Amino acid sequence: GGDEFAFVLNTTDAAQAADAAERILGLLDRPFELRGQRVHVGASIGIALFPAHGESIDELLKHADIAMYRAKVEGGAYAFFDPERSPFSRERLSLEVELRQAVTRGELELCYQPMQALCDGAVLGFEALARWRRDGTLLAAADFIPLAEESELIRLLDWRILRQALAEARQLLAASPPLQLSVNLSARSLHAPGLVEHLASLLSETGVEPGRLVLEITESAAMRHPERSYETLHALAALGVRLAMDDFGTGFASLTYLRNMPLHRVKIDGSLVRQIGSDPRGEELVRGAIALGHGLGLEVVGEGVESEAQREWLRNNGCDQVQGYLIGRPVPLGELRGLAPGAARGG
Ligand code: C2E
Ligand code: CA
Ligand code: CA
Repeated sequence: GGDEFAFVLNTTDAAQAADAAERILGLLDRPFELRGQRVHVGASIGIALFPAHGESIDELLKHADIAMYRAKVEGGAYAFFDPERSPFSRERLSLEVELRQAVTRGELELCYQPMQALCDGAVLGFEALARWRRDGTLLAAADFIPLAEESELIRLLDWRILRQALAEARQLLAASPPLQLSVNLSARSLHAPGLVEHLASLLSETGVEPGRLVLEITESAAMRHPERSYETLHALAALGVRLAMDDFGTGFASLTYLRNMPLHRVKIDGSLVRQIGSDPRGEELVRGAIALGHGLGLEVVGEGVESEAQREWLRNNGCDQVQGYLIGRPVPLGELRGLAPGAARGG
């Protein structure tokens, strides 16, 4: 159908099927002439084996199709159907294909959410959050970042967002010296080879002082390969960028690692902040997280603050900064209010 072809092989041996896939790809790989132009086509191949991956023709075709989409999305040349990853539906995969296109074409947008000091209400910085305009609706990061995080796509996405945020915000940063820009980095990006070198050249290209950039890494990302994270975080800190542990209180960071990580800030997760005023044990957890952050000499930010009562409680319990709908929703850079030099006061 369309630009898709099916081959039926008279073997059920996986190695022979892989061999056939490689031969087909090798043939397609040869350049040929088309109206005087040298052209080149590629292909993605999905393989389903009888009877392991299906006992009917329909099922085999469907599973070969899913495997083909996976090969396409993951950038591999061919893939076998993997029943373990079966929730992979074609619809989901085409969403991934679309997301990849949006990322490579630079179509993602950014919204910025302010962070406010609790001592005097000053806006100290803002966090860049990715947005995807798909079929006319603006999707929040929560709706597509998890999908991107399942493949290497997240590295490209994070890198593009970092570039875009620095490019968009550099003027504002230059005009309002204390302001900081926060950008999120996922686990795969943190462990990408060359991250530190690339970031160093990006900073000098954009002229943004390293100390004005805060990289937010979730607690669970930092804990995935603690030894490697530890090394990368130290190299990033040596560049002069600031580091924040995001979603603090949800990822089981070991206290030993926490002590040795070159962090500047912890951000207490919104799920904990939400318990303020409703769950006394939850409040104890927030108190504990604030004390732990301060004990390690770090700034403490409360996330997801939606009510005046939550802000008041956090102020009374020594939290340094707050972020959340109460202070400001994420908006395009041009709509950020009160960030002009000397005017960074509010609330
Ligand atoms: P996060 O870093 O914890 O960001 C805060 C999330 O909570 C944002 O959702 C924000 O819109 C939302 N939020 C802010 N204030 C409130 C509030 O008062 N109440 C409630 N209920 N929610 C609030 P968003 O933009 O959907 O982002 C979700 C997550 O996606 C982020 O959580 C972050 O981990 C990730 N993310 C966003 N942009 C990027 C990116 O460029 N790269 C990577 N790797 N991750 C990103
Ligand atoms: Ca964050
Ligand atoms: Ca967070």
